[in-house]
Amino acid sequence: MTIFAVIFFILGLVIGSFLNVVIYRYNTQKSFGGRSACMSCRTQLHWYELVPLFSYLGLKGRCRSCQTKISAQYPLVEFLTGILFLVLFFKFKDILYQDTLMFIIPYAFYTAIFSLLLVITVYDIKHKIIPDVLSFVFGVLAFLSVFLFIDGVFYPHMPVISDFFGAFVISVPFALIWLLSRGTWMGLGDAKLAVGLGLLLGMPLMLSATVMAFWIGAIIGIFLLIFNKKYNRKSEVPFGPFLILGTLIAFLCELEIYQLLNIFN
Ligand SMILES: [Zn+2]
Repeated sequence: MTIFAVIFFILGLVIGSFLNVVIYRYNTQKSFGGRSACMSCRTQLHWYELVPLFSYLGLKGRCRSCQTKISAQYPLVEFLTGILFLVLFFKFKDILYQDTLMFIIPYAFYTAIFSLLLVITVYDIKHKIIPDVLSFVFGVLAFLSVFLFIDGVFYPHMPVISDFFGAFVISVPFALIWLLSRGTWMGLGDAKLAVGLGLLLGMPLMLSATVMAFWIGAIIGIFLLIFNKKYNRKSEVPFGPFLILGTLIAFLCELEIYQLLNIFN
């Protein structure tokens, strides 16, 4: 069990370093081929400088040739992907011992879909925008999940109409907020993202995910205002990442809204 956990964590680190390449090259329109090089001095990196997370720690966050600081985004994304692969392993681990295939299918699907959400998160934080292509690919995968899974269990079936409610109940109000505030309170990107998240979670879970997103967003917003001088009350803080974090927590814990509200009782 521990061995499996370590293997999936390392797999996550490796996928995470690939996600970094996607995030970086998607923005700069560069091709995916070619060896990785330092962005400052163009020195090509040796294999031992490409080991996820550990290379960054070993190099103390600086390029070996020119000593330029390496962005903390790289080890952070690698580490978060590792954690993602680990928590999803714990979510599905009980099936692994019963039926390997019934583990691999949902595990591969949900690690892929949450990896995509991680890319969207980093992109939204960096550029304050969610690219339509990423939202669309995510939406298609989430739509497929309605046909393939029930509560994370692989079970191909024809969905019922209520399986699609989650996509509307949250995204329509978001779109209205976007419209009425002329995009100042919330971007249209958040509404588009919410369609996919609602499909992925279904109605009761999507509601808890949204409530959690507002709580986490409020707490982090207050912290940024107090401790980070770059932020003031006019600063734009993207909501997408909070919505995605709320979705992950709701999915992992199968947290229904009444359970969430019972915390206060
Ligand atoms: Zn360099």
